[in-house]
Amino acid sequence: MTFRATILTILPEMFPGPLGHSLAGDALARGVWSLETRDIREHGIGRHRAVDDTPAGGGPGMVMRCDVVAAALDALGTDERPRLVMSPRGRPLGQDRVRDLARGPGAVILCGRFEGIDERVIAARGLEEVSIGDYVLSGGEIGAIVLLDACIRLLPGVMGKEASGTEESFEGGLLEYPHYTRPREWEGRTIPDVLLSGNHAEISRWRRAEALRITRERRPDLLSDTPDQD
Ligand code: SAH
Repeated sequence: MTFRATILTILPEMFPGPLGHSLAGDALARGVWSLETRDIREHGIGRHRAVDDTPAGGGPGMVMRCDVVAAALDALGTDERPRLVMSPRGRPLGQDRVRDLARGPGAVILCGRFEGIDERVIAARGLEEVSIGDYVLSGGEIGAIVLLDACIRLLPGVMGKEASGTEESFEGGLLEYPHYTRPREWEGRTIPDVLLSGNHAEISRWRRAEALRITRERRPDLLSDTPDQD
């Protein structure tokens, strides 16, 4: 089943962008996922195809019009895909939501620009607000690319080894253990002996302990709902 992504944007030329390369690009070429961009401006008002207007109540910037955004959404018809809108006010995107989305049929993603989008269309069309982090981007497009990249690498057949998705950061609630490769010694730094021992049980134990140590040091918040295994 193809994972279908539809992007509503005033900057369709930003896609596929980075998603046209490497894992995601190969998967796109192979039809593992599909990408459709819709230019919101096609539903803009008047000769200039305006999509924005001044904020009610005053203040800086412009706001994307609800009628224009609704027309762009409604032109898609409805299907079973979740309809998302990128927004710094949304629920922060996490690996759990990414995994859920990747298991599903795809997503319709609305990208804001300017000061944001008229609140009424978000409510009226039941859009799910998704944030990619606590900072402000100039538009939703890069956020949509981030979200899709995270989903696409989890689609069946995208990553070289199916297993490479299961031990990484956030899977199991921990950050990942450190990686090493050749050369065996570099600038006086060596690879931990256990990794060269060939003892797979020892290696697993070491990796688990390192994952816990790093998570405790850097992201103790992740451990608060994970039983401590020490
Ligand atoms: N005035 C808004 C920010 C608008 S930024 C505020 O203060 O909340 C313009 C657009 O960029 C938003 O509509 C949204 O689509 C996108 N955007 C900005 N930051 C984002 C983030 N952290 N996550 C997801 N989308 C973001």
